[in-house]
Amino acid sequence: MRIDRYSQKDSNIRRIDTALYDCVLFVRSDFTVSSASKNYYEFVGENSVLAFTDLIDEEDAKLLKDFVVRGMGSENCIELYTRLTNKLDEGWRNVYLRLDKTDHTEEKAPLYRITLIDVLNAEVRMEQLDKKANKYRFYMSIKDEYYFEYDPESNIYKYYKYVNGKAIDVYSGDLDEFCKEQVAKSGGADYMTAQTEKLAKYLKGRNTSFEMRWRSHESGDEGHAGLYQFRGGVSIYNPEIVTGVISSEGSSDDMAYYLTTAGKDSFTGLLNKKASTEYSVEKINSAGKNILWMIVIDIDDFKSINDNYGHAFGDVIIRFVAENLQKHMGRHGIVGRFGGDEFYALMHDVPTREELKLILKVISKELMYAFDDKVKLTMSVGVSQYPKDGTQFDELFGKADKALYIAKEKGKNRHIIYDEKLHGEYSQESIKYQTVSYMVSREKRRGMLVRCISDIQENGIDSFLKNRNLQQGLLDLFDLGGITIYGDYGKKVILRSGDYPAPPEDRAGIAYDENYAAQYEHETTLVISTVNRLKPVSTLAYESAVNQEIGASVRCGIKKGDEIYIFVDFDVFNTNRKWSDSDIDILTILGCTIGEMIKLAE
Ligand code: GH3
Ligand code: MG
Repeated sequence: MRIDRYSQKDSNIRRIDTALYDCVLFVRSDFTVSSASKNYYEFVGENSVLAFTDLIDEEDAKLLKDFVVRGMGSENCIELYTRLTNKLDEGWRNVYLRLDKTDHTEEKAPLYRITLIDVLNAEVRMEQLDKKANKYRFYMSIKDEYYFEYDPESNIYKYYKYVNGKAIDVYSGDLDEFCKEQVAKSGGADYMTAQTEKLAKYLKGRNTSFEMRWRSHESGDEGHAGLYQFRGGVSIYNPEIVTGVISSEGSSDDMAYYLTTAGKDSFTGLLNKKASTEYSVEKINSAGKNILWMIVIDIDDFKSINDNYGHAFGDVIIRFVAENLQKHMGRHGIVGRFGGDEFYALMHDVPTREELKLILKVISKELMYAFDDKVKLTMSVGVSQYPKDGTQFDELFGKADKALYIAKEKGKNRHIIYDEKLHGEYSQESIKYQTVSYMVSREKRRGMLVRCISDIQENGIDSFLKNRNLQQGLLDLFDLGGITIYGDYGKKVILRSGDYPAPPEDRAGIAYDENYAAQYEHETTLVISTVNRLKPVSTLAYESAVNQEIGASVRCGIKKGDEIYIFVDFDVFNTNRKWSDSDIDILTILGCTIGEMIKLAE
């Protein structure tokens, strides 16, 4: 069949195990074989005396014959996908076939050349090549090298980097523009003018091979960070383009750690935590008045991605995020992975907040639409700015981390740029008391759950109800305003902890309200992010929450029969709160345990 009409034929016929490999044969006008490669004879055996057209599908044989009879017309060759049998048994091979007219003759009659490529073998070979290429691409990801490519025809120059075995452009654009930009960024420095001219000359001249040193404008005058070596020349695979490698200079023992292979996270090829930090410190020290953005990133609810789709898919996500960050942020600075689902970036040539926001938005959109609708891939981002927020790594990192914590607290899937007026002062001292780091705080929250439950187990529920210190710890750690426990179908207040602006609500009035009870998810917990949620449920519940200035709650309900017997409410005042899944989980376990223990103790 013609190549453009190729479709898979029924495949229930047994294929021959003998490999046909690729072969060439010369045939006469009647398609009898004049000569052929050895493997053709091996494949068709004694049937090599038959005309070639007798061994392929009839329809295809007709196409070939027509082609020869018509004298080729304007076309020089015909290509087909066909099925070649050897007529020895029922076996066959799918082959790509190309018929060309040649200058060869046999007794003055023209000969035609037929090239056959075994499709199955071709697939296997492609796969092997691909595997090999992947191996090298992975190696290229680990190495700190850039690769460049120049197309003289379009004057497009690009250089790229491998992340996770994929080439990601760091720069792609007109060569002359690139040179101009570099000169401008260096403040018109002579060395830059000289080296851009040199590079342009090599590239445009399509030199077969060249080597030159390059000093980057970004790193100031010191350090090896700014010294690179270009090695390249006309590509042997495609002589139309010039390609090569850009490697950083310096002997390995005095090379900065972040430039070494050891400074890479081997899973994604991004910088690891130590290398990112080292690079950032250097960059901060030489930044002067230039703006830098420090960015910490954490994938939202990554655990549930792992839980729902498996660890292997989780790995795919991590690599995908790594690539995406490298693609959008890498060209403005460096991107690192701090471990697990935490990433980091330091960007140096994003002059405004608006541009920064745009980059973050593009990344978020790409993550959101990258996978199936069911996979919710979002990230939370915290940002701080040099020199506005600090001139030391620790301070900048602390502030970016605090902003990340707030982003998570506010309901995730957002970025927060640190702002002292909005987010409160940040001091090293406050770290000790505040739940600054999201990670640390969540660990602490889990720890608090364990503390409370073991306290209840060891000393009984009464001890917990009296332990004001423990309750205060709970309020602090979860940023709660107060905890209230109602017993006896809401008629009795068992615990009131925290600074409630008003007395407890009349819970007895709603204990028997079916509509209200129905709101308790899985019959245990009612999560209120905004008090307005109560409005359509129960006017009484809504009004009493408003009166107490409760803005959001996690409320646990312990039933006796069909009615809620004990209410354990964790409240915040005068503000909405998008509760994180892990907080809901922890407070539910805690609230239900407390409630059950109270019921049991009665
Ligand atoms: P949050 O929105 O609060 O960040 O919730 P989260 O579920 O993302 O929680 P967290 O960031 O603490 O979870 C990180 C999880 O990532 C913990 C660990 O099981 C998983 N993880 C860490 N490294 C890897 C990895 O290399 N591959 C996979 N598949 N999972 C990892
Ligand atoms: Mg996470």
